[in-house]
This record gives sequence, C-alpha cells and structure tokens, in this order.
Amino acid sequence: MTKLNPGVKPRKAIEIFNKIKDLALTKKTHSVVVFDLDSTLFDVAPRLEKVLIDVADEPIIKEKFPNVIPYFKNIKTQRNDWGFVDVLKRAGVSPDHHDLFKTVRTLWAEKFFSNEYIHHDVPYQGSVEFVKKIDQLQIPIVYLTGRDVKRMELGSRDVLKKWDFPLDDQSSRLVLKPERSMDDALFKRDWLHSYMTDHKTSVFLFENEPVNINLVAKELPTVELVFFDSTHSRMEAPPEEIFTLVHYLLDDE
Ligand SMILES: [Mg+2]
Repeated sequence: MTKLNPGVKPRKAIEIFNKIKDLALTKKTHSVVVFDLDSTLFDVAPRLEKVLIDVADEPIIKEKFPNVIPYFKNIKTQRNDWGFVDVLKRAGVSPDHHDLFKTVRTLWAEKFFSNEYIHHDVPYQGSVEFVKKIDQLQIPIVYLTGRDVKRMELGSRDVLKKWDFPLDDQSSRLVLKPERSMDDALFKRDWLHSYMTDHKTSVFLFENEPVNINLVAKELPTVELVFFDSTHSRMEAPPEEIFTLVHYLLDDE
C-alpha cells in the first residue's frame, strides 16, 4: 500500500486499542473515543469514482465538452486521491481544460456532499470491528464529522448502520456540522473543547486531516491524537511524532 506520508511510520491498531482498553479498565478517568468519518473510518474513493462517472452523464457536460467524455470511462480512483483534479488528469484529461474543471467542480460538489452518494463509501480494513470492540468496553464513541446536517445526516446514519458500526444515539452518536459554511477544524475544536469541559474526560481523536489534527494539538494538548494515513488536503503536514495507522486490523503481524 502506498503511504501518503513516507516520513511517518505506521503503528499497529492493537497498540492504540490496548491503550484505550487499559484506561477503561483502570477507570481512573472517563474516556471518549472520537472518530472522523471521511478518509478516517470510510474510504471515499468509491464515492468519488461514482460521482465522476455520473458527472459525465450530465447534459451540460455532453453539450459543452463532448470530446472529453471518453476519458471519463478511464476513471479509476485510488486511496490517496483528494478531490477530482488528479483523477481526471490520470484519466487523460488535459490539465489546461479550465472550463471543464470549473463545470465539473460544481457538479462534483453537488453529488459528493449528498446523502445519495455516501452509500458508495466503504469502511477501511478492520474499522467496523475496531469500533465495535471499543463499544464493548463501554467507552462512549462519537463520530465527529465535517459533513453537515442538511446535506448528509440521513445518509451518514444509514451508511454507519449498513456497515454495522455502533450507533445507538446514547453511548455511540453522530455529530455533524449544523451549517455547511462552518470551518471543519474550528467546528471540531469547539465541539471537543465543550465536551471536555462538560464531561471531564480523556479524549482519543482518530483523524486523517492534518489541519484538524494540528489545531487540536495546539489548542487542546491533552487530546490523544491518532493520525489515519489515507489522504488529506495537503494544506498542512501531520506532526512528525504522532501515532499513525494505515488500517484497523487488530491481528496484524
Ligand atoms: Mg476526514
């Protein structure tokens, strides 16, 4: 598997699981385990692929860009894809095709951030079992996502349930942005801060986006961070000394 951050050495999921378990068993402190969804528990590459294939069927693409439609048949997304630009270039679309990229961006955003298309997401290896095992330790689980309520709550709930992730709205719950315009990193920091103030808990945060990780590391330094090395915006690099996973398999040798 190609790693996105070659300088960061991946660790074993069992190590972080045992750390969470030890804390739960000693009961010296309450804990909560917080998981991001996109590119942390779920591989969104299949969603991206389906979105782009359907974009090619849109009347505006057929009308304005008939010559590029054959390239869309070559589309194959990869784990470390971020957005659609590299995917289209790899399929053979010229990077100079600015009009096309602009039109695709609008269509892509409508579909990618929608209840309809998140059904194509697939959990990363071992993630369902990993989250279930934490749930069995009776540690609260929160899915804290930059998806927003209006466009993606219903689909997010359906997909978590479809794959058998714990979600009982008490000890395992889903938290989305109330408004799409909110900044993901600030939303997550504020939610974590208020939860920690109310509950006096120790927090584990599993997250793939360095922008979110770095803000939490700086402003909420007691949060135990786990970086999931899948893909990210490339706006920032993850901290060099951070617990890193590339899958959640507990029996990995
Ligand atoms: Mg994410």
